[in-house]
Amino acid sequence: MIIQSRKIWMNGSFQAGQLKIINGGIQKILPYNQEKADKDYGSLLVCPGFIDIHTHGWNKCDAGHPTSAAMQKWKMHMPHEGVTSFVATTATQSIEENEKAFSKLGGIIENQGNGAEIIGINVEGNYISHNAHGAQDLYTIVKPNAEQLLHYNALSKHHILTVTCAPECEGAIDFIKRATAAGIRVSMGHSAATYEESELAIKAGVTGTTHTGNGMTPFHHRRPGIFGAALCDGSVYAEVIGDGIHVAFPTAQIIGTMKGKDRLILVTDSSPVKDDPKYAEMNKEGAFRLPDGTLFGSALYVNQGVYNLYKKAHLPLETAINAATINPAKFLGVDNRKGSIEEGKDADITVCTNTFDLKEVYCMGKAQLHGNN
Ligand SMILES: [Zn+2]
Repeated sequence: MIIQSRKIWMNGSFQAGQLKIINGGIQKILPYNQEKADKDYGSLLVCPGFIDIHTHGWNKCDAGHPTSAAMQKWKMHMPHEGVTSFVATTATQSIEENEKAFSKLGGIIENQGNGAEIIGINVEGNYISHNAHGAQDLYTIVKPNAEQLLHYNALSKHHILTVTCAPECEGAIDFIKRATAAGIRVSMGHSAATYEESELAIKAGVTGTTHTGNGMTPFHHRRPGIFGAALCDGSVYAEVIGDGIHVAFPTAQIIGTMKGKDRLILVTDSSPVKDDPKYAEMNKEGAFRLPDGTLFGSALYVNQGVYNLYKKAHLPLETAINAATINPAKFLGVDNRKGSIEEGKDADITVCTNTFDLKEVYCMGKAQLHGNN
């Protein structure tokens, strides 16, 4: 199959071209109109498929309590946000719940089926601080425990890609070193760490920050803390929830400006109640809150998030697009096959308007919104 457009996102800009897709991959990139195209998208934007590395679920599908049917439903939904791959994210829960979830997720990941690809697992619980737990369950938080994480990883058939850890907790530095040595990326978050503690964690191997600005001590000009370290350190990737509620758009602009085009990662942190009609009441402003006002996840769609970063947080287009494509791919170490439109990579492609309204999404070359391609 050949698709073409005058605006394909390649090497940091939109260029005219054709993509020859064979066996789920981008086999060749040709000049516009070189061969007869099966689909001509004119001047619509053809972007690399979006990647969400921090999402807990959608409409009753819950990464923490997965069933094959629910996960399949979720995989089929994700292209409706422009997403072609994502990382199923668990929150703080009991050991029994974790063991069940990781075993189940491992099996599902090895038998993908249709829809967006689940690239792996993100463990957001349980190694976080009681002082910055947000909406996470206080009672099942444990000290960073590498032994336990590696046990979970084995249960998941080694599909845990990333874990959150609060650097100030006892044993955190050893945990970071051991997780990193096992090939699991450590993101710091749900934390009240000082700037210095955060820097030590980065030295020990931390490469990301979990929903930067949320679940962490706010920035203070004399005590920059973990938020300050996330902004200042040029090596770490910073997640940002791009809904304008979890962090105000000017704050997203500050985070995006500091991290630049290569280190910002857009996430939804979307809750399993997103799009569940039963919870519509709790979502009056575009995000979910507990009765005490604590935010517990967004209702954001990733394509809206890219638009928000560009138009509402006033970040450069390249920063906004990279935040949902090549940056998460690099953070996860899957940029050899995902995150950009290049020959030899998976044909994960999101076609949209200038305002990022979706027109078609291809997962491994298969059209998801209008089918039969
Ligand atoms: Zn989360």
